[in-house]
Amino acid sequence: MSKVLIIGCGGVASVAISKCCQISDVFTDICIASRTVSKCEALAARLAPATKTKITTRQVDADKLEELVALIKDYQPDLVMNIALPYQDLTIMDACLATGVNYLDTANYEPEDITDPAWRASYEKRCQEKGFSAYFDYSWQWAYQEKFKAAGLTALLGSGFDPGVTQAYCAYAAKHEFDTIDTIDILDCNGGDHGYPFATNFNPEINLREVSAPGSYWEDGRWVEIPPMTIKRVYDFDQVGRKDMYLLHHEEIESLARNLPEVKRIRFFMTFGQSYLTHMKCLENVGMLSTEAIDFEGQKIVPIQFLKALLPDPASLGPRTKGKTNIGCIFTGTKDGRKKTYYIYNVCDHQECYREVGSQAISYTTGVPAMCGALMMLTGQWILPGVHTVEEFDPDPFLAALDKYGLPRRENRDPVLVD
Ligand code: NDP
Repeated sequence: MSKVLIIGCGGVASVAISKCCQISDVFTDICIASRTVSKCEALAARLAPATKTKITTRQVDADKLEELVALIKDYQPDLVMNIALPYQDLTIMDACLATGVNYLDTANYEPEDITDPAWRASYEKRCQEKGFSAYFDYSWQWAYQEKFKAAGLTALLGSGFDPGVTQAYCAYAAKHEFDTIDTIDILDCNGGDHGYPFATNFNPEINLREVSAPGSYWEDGRWVEIPPMTIKRVYDFDQVGRKDMYLLHHEEIESLARNLPEVKRIRFFMTFGQSYLTHMKCLENVGMLSTEAIDFEGQKIVPIQFLKALLPDPASLGPRTKGKTNIGCIFTGTKDGRKKTYYIYNVCDHQECYREVGSQAISYTTGVPAMCGALMMLTGQWILPGVHTVEEFDPDPFLAALDKYGLPRRENRDPVLVD
């Protein structure tokens, strides 16, 4: 019997909530709280007839600590699942500390306002010290480590697919497949087609910021940064086929480098079609990806937020998207004195996801691990006071839950490697 407060009701949260409602004996009570309460009410009305989970809804602005604290005190959840945006991570963590409740999210903190001088100063220091320039990094949330420990509370960071499942795959490989891992390549392939010339599969602002940033990877104990989209490979993905993929910076590289220090190289690749890249470059060149407000006819407008209003809502892509995703990790290393390679991945079909929960596979592959992470915490299997990422926990029950609830693993012991 558990009460869970879920903050956010967008593409990912809708899937996580739908999946929680399939396991009513664990998720007995859910409160969906978001900025636009009508979306929470519509989802609750859709799910209520087919679940025993008691669903309530509330309006909350998760940028306001006092609103969050009042809501948590009133609802008294066992866990807060933050499936809003990375901008809200620190406020929601503060609210959990103030009320003594465990915390889970799906993406690490980044600020909404990257012009804020205080944030900018520590960002520039970090760029110099660490050698990568992404706006997001774990330092802000790792700074809560002692506070969560002292309060006896667990914060599980990044329980989506990547970050999330990819780290569980790494923990699994380290536990069962290798004595030493030398290299990890994380490959994220979306072979889906929604029929639009340009649309993003999840929140456009977060997605476009990530993709237009310089790429970076971890090698021999340091970050190597490259201009955006300058390392390209072609890979033949199981059940999807040959795709162009590009090296990106990605948040789980940072925690994996810390938690698996023997690994010599960690890279992340994501597939993109030429049409997506051409549109993105053009939008970037004309300033539409900027997060800095401009004055337009007496009004302040943030270009990327205006662009978001023009683009298709990611939640509306579900019925149109056909094809599959294939996301996983390729490892090289040694077992029992022998060199070996290993590939563990999941293939997910956009249309099957839509039939099951009314969403495409990108939201599905993030929402299901969010639910499974919550399941691990609520059943006591992943409770460890402090602030932790997925690879710090036993991967076995989590991967078993993913197998059972819609994201089964596949394995290949002789994969083609990425050069
Ligand atoms: P959406 O934009 O679809 O949904 C975001 C939700 O958060 C909306 O319901 C929005 O409300 C709500 N929200 C935004 N700001 C606030 C606020 N101040 N207070 C309360 N609610 C707020 O995003 P996605 O569902 O695509 O993404 C959700 C999260 O998942 C993001 O953090 C994203 O980075 C992460 N993600 C992680 C992945 C992984 O593999 N780990 C992959 C994909 C996404 P409103 O309706 O009013 O806008």
